Amino acid sequence: MKLTILGNNGPYPASGGACSGYLLESDSGNTTILIDCGTGVLANLMGAGALDRLDAVVLSHLHFDHMSDMLPMQYAIQFHPRKHPLPVYAPKTPEMTRALLDCGCYDLWPCEDVTIGEMRVSFNPARHPVETKAVSVVCDGARFVFTGDSNTDPLLELFCEDADLLLADAGLSEADWKPTAPHFSAALCGKLAKDTHAKRLLLTHFNPKYDPADLLNEAKQHFAKAECAKIGEVYYI
Ligand SMILES: [Zn+2]
Ligand SMILES: [Zn+2]
Repeated sequence: MKLTILGNNGPYPASGGACSGYLLESDSGNTTILIDCGTGVLANLMGAGALDRLDAVVLSHLHFDHMSDMLPMQYAIQFHPRKHPLPVYAPKTPEMTRALLDCGCYDLWPCEDVTIGEMRVSFNPARHPVETKAVSVVCDGARFVFTGDSNTDPLLELFCEDADLLLADAGLSEADWKPTAPHFSAALCGKLAKDTHAKRLLLTHFNPKYDPADLLNEAKQHFAKAECAKIGEVYYI
């Protein structure tokens, strides 16, 4: 699989940045999905020329930094008509936010395990203030796991086991983290990768108030090969 980072900030974008957005393509190029579509992601999706070939969008949850660009995407689709509405897999709540997606351009589905083209997509609850799913994609003999926004959780840890690439929510520094927080710390992302035997760890969901280099150093205390997800960068899984 080929992973392209379209956004790596949260809960708001840095100057020139973009919030959560990850483009995943099969090696054959026949299956393309977008995971999350936060602020600034649509511009980068257009830059990647990928709107027309999207087979589906998967939204980990309906906080705005993960879905707001789904609103103007409906206008983009009006100028790039599709044969069928774009399938969108999203949590059912908060209902008011989900209702914003009910615009005729999208074919709305719940986050239940599904095969999309060559990809087997599965979900596991994350620990976050609204209904949130971690996402696993198996394709081309490899497994990609995205934690969604989450704090530590034993079942989530099981779900992450043996990922070829683990993309993890480093929304907090170690100093700002607490057990009831809505996000992992970068250090805990490193620990998660180590404990679940990930082959590769990418940190994401960078709050612009932090220097990503500091978060990377925290993660490296537990997982020496940790990397920061960079917008525009392509990772082969
Ligand atoms: Zn977020
Ligand atoms: Zn969130």
